[in-house]
Amino acid sequence: MSILEVKNLNVAFKSDEKSYQALYNVSFNLNEGKTLALVGESGCGKTLTAMSILRLLPKNAYVMSGEILYNKMDILKTEHPEKIRGTKIALIPQDPMTSLNPLYTVENQLVEVINKNKLFSKADTLKKAKEALDKVKIPNVEEKLKAYPHELSGGMKQRVIIAMALACNAEIIIADEPTTALDVTIQAQIMNLLNTIKRELRTSILFISHDLELVGQYCDDIAVMYAGSIVEKAPVKEFFDCTLHPYSIALLKTRPRGNAKRLKIIEGQPPSIKDCISGCKFHPRCTSSTSESCKKVVPEQYMSKVSENHMVACHLGDWGRLIGRFD
Ligand code: SF4
Repeated sequence: MSILEVKNLNVAFKSDEKSYQALYNVSFNLNEGKTLALVGESGCGKTLTAMSILRLLPKNAYVMSGEILYNKMDILKTEHPEKIRGTKIALIPQDPMTSLNPLYTVENQLVEVINKNKLFSKADTLKKAKEALDKVKIPNVEEKLKAYPHELSGGMKQRVIIAMALACNAEIIIADEPTTALDVTIQAQIMNLLNTIKRELRTSILFISHDLELVGQYCDDIAVMYAGSIVEKAPVKEFFDCTLHPYSIALLKTRPRGNAKRLKIIEGQPPSIKDCISGCKFHPRCTSSTSESCKKVVPEQYMSKVSENHMVACHLGDWGRLIGRFD
């Protein structure tokens, strides 16, 4: 069952008295107790999508159209997004150091979040703070409550932020590249922790990343974004078994391989929102492009023959898989 449905979301920026569209008909469902990965190169619109869900768009950005349904309620229409943000839908950011206030202890910051609506006594609030730190497996809870952020390691800080989300009983966690600033062993610990939370508390996770290895290991579904559009959506296993979109195939080829001396790259640059590209926005970089339609006609979402859950936005449809594999 979907807990979050993003439907035909279009977002634009205003700059120099002009509007530049940044998201194009972004649509996906996040199912209860599942992890959906939103994947793509920097600047493709992943974080902008997350900020739209949290109603935290920059001042010069605005939603042109679309719906974001949280438990069937349109977040874009609610007058009090702050009642959902941080409580029902929480954000785990890339760099935990910039999210925790360096001037306050862990206890101060947890207590403030838990008792935002002044519903609990001081003793109950403290009890909830300790329980939250326990849930994210922070050792020496009493000591850590008194610590300032600079006294904690990167992994510990990220655990404190996850604890804040859990303390508020968030049903959805948006994890925006949550392990980018951490080393590999801590990265695995944080990903395992998120997995445990998903399994035990049925929390739904929107996992924003460009790391396909992590996606393959920890996510249930994937949506690949390019230049503000979702170009492929599928259950993760199916995506890796049968990748269809030429951009997804190119992304997979950039993964580090055992003996390879050099990493593969995708030639060219992703477009900026000010670039006016007709047809398929990937066509200047696509090595599978075969027809004039690629340059002239925006490809629609096509339901793959592989399964009804596998969508691809490419004129080649299922054939992209064969052509893209051998280029
Ligand atoms: Fe490549 Fe054409 Fe498919 Fe775009 S529509 S990804 S240019 S083959």
